[in-house]
Amino acid sequence: METGLDKEIAKVAEQVRRTDFMWAAGLSGGACGILATLANVPVLQAVLVWMVILMGLAARYYTANVNWSVPVQRAVQNQLVVFQRLRAVMNALPEPVIMLKGDGVVEMANPATAEFVGTEPEGKHMTSIFRAPAVMLALEDAVKSSQPQVTDFVVSGSVDRHCRIYVTPLALEAEDDFDSELIEDRMLVFVSDLSTERRLEQMRSDFIANASHELRTPLASMLGFIETLRGHAREDKEVQEKFLGIMQSQAERMLRLVTDLMSLSSIELNEHMPPETRVDLVKVAEEVRAALSPVAGSYEGTIEVQSLLNDGTQIVEGDRDELIQVVQNLTDNALKYSQEKPKVTILIGRGEPPVLAEAALRTGETAQQISARAGLSAGDLVFIQIRDEGGGIRRQDLPRLTERFYRVDVEESKARGGTGLGLAIVKHIINRHKGGLQIESASGQGSAFTCFFRPSRK
Ligand code: ADP
Repeated sequence: METGLDKEIAKVAEQVRRTDFMWAAGLSGGACGILATLANVPVLQAVLVWMVILMGLAARYYTANVNWSVPVQRAVQNQLVVFQRLRAVMNALPEPVIMLKGDGVVEMANPATAEFVGTEPEGKHMTSIFRAPAVMLALEDAVKSSQPQVTDFVVSGSVDRHCRIYVTPLALEAEDDFDSELIEDRMLVFVSDLSTERRLEQMRSDFIANASHELRTPLASMLGFIETLRGHAREDKEVQEKFLGIMQSQAERMLRLVTDLMSLSSIELNEHMPPETRVDLVKVAEEVRAALSPVAGSYEGTIEVQSLLNDGTQIVEGDRDELIQVVQNLTDNALKYSQEKPKVTILIGRGEPPVLAEAALRTGETAQQISARAGLSAGDLVFIQIRDEGGGIRRQDLPRLTERFYRVDVEESKARGGTGLGLAIVKHIINRHKGGLQIESASGQGSAFTCFFRPSRK
């Protein structure tokens, strides 16, 4: 293939060949002249010999089928391939990598850089791409010391991004045939986005702080009661009975909390392994209704199971105990947080679930989004929806409900035996089943929690 570079190489080779020929012609002419003089050869003969040599040289240089530029082209192309491979490696890296000239201008940058900074960086100065002073300092230090530099900086925006930049001066191995005057300094810059890591660290430490706080409160109150029982209430049977009752409910609360924490941790541990057993969602709903009917009774409420399916069964791939936990947590919440005489309905069906109310607020993925993600048609998706006719949930609370320990009203949740982990457990189980959760709420009309699952393929 004839490229611009090939033409350039051929042109240079042509010049070299011409100069070469002139030299050979000149030298052979001189040699013939000297020989003719020394050996007393007639000029005509010497010229003839020279002409023969010239014709031989011309045949060698111009007529013989020798492409003088080919070896040069090959050598240059080999180097070009190495260079292009390096560029391909750079482009394949998922995080920003930049080759910087000594003056701070970007010579090369991979597509991840353009994505990260939101503009085409090549040819621009680093100061116009990363405005953080820490980055400039790291570059200056790298130039001054010729040593690699690492520094953290924050990219401000609607959401701040915590990043780390590595600046490495690139020293070329000194080789004899390099003209060091022509080789400019280069620096390799690598940027790593640590935001997810930071967020996870923050979540982990918040979680530990929340869990410790939740356990500490009942423990501290129990210690207070023990002290009183051993002190001035030592002889008072009535006070003892009352305090023991409170201590029992505090201990039960701690047990519920520890049980929920353990469930959450075991679900998280298996979250990357979707379950493979077959479970009938209608049976799950019936079981939960039976298990929670005493609770419904205590609130003077009812739980109704409605199947919208033709054949009355809906098999999904799932873990039976986990699916029971999902439906149980949601039904228990629907009973707990609806106002008087709760009416809870568990609906099982396929495709689009019935909407709670036209004006309802919604959070989470829709049936279409989940089926597109799962590679299913929307009609194949299976849902189980738990509806209540309570007061509903406020707009600002809806997106946060599945966060660990998030409660709309902490005192109300505690009074009803809540731990603040119920919906977090539901979300993690649904994630493990590669399903989806949608929450709807209509003020004064109630809430609907819809869990979507994939139908069993077997
Ligand atoms: P909790 O243990 O406090 O019930 P959850 O994670 O199960 O924790 O629920 C979080 C919060 O969501 C509850 O504290 C409650 O404020 C709210 N909530 C959950 N379900 C409903 C519902 N059906 N109606 C109204 N509010 C609800």
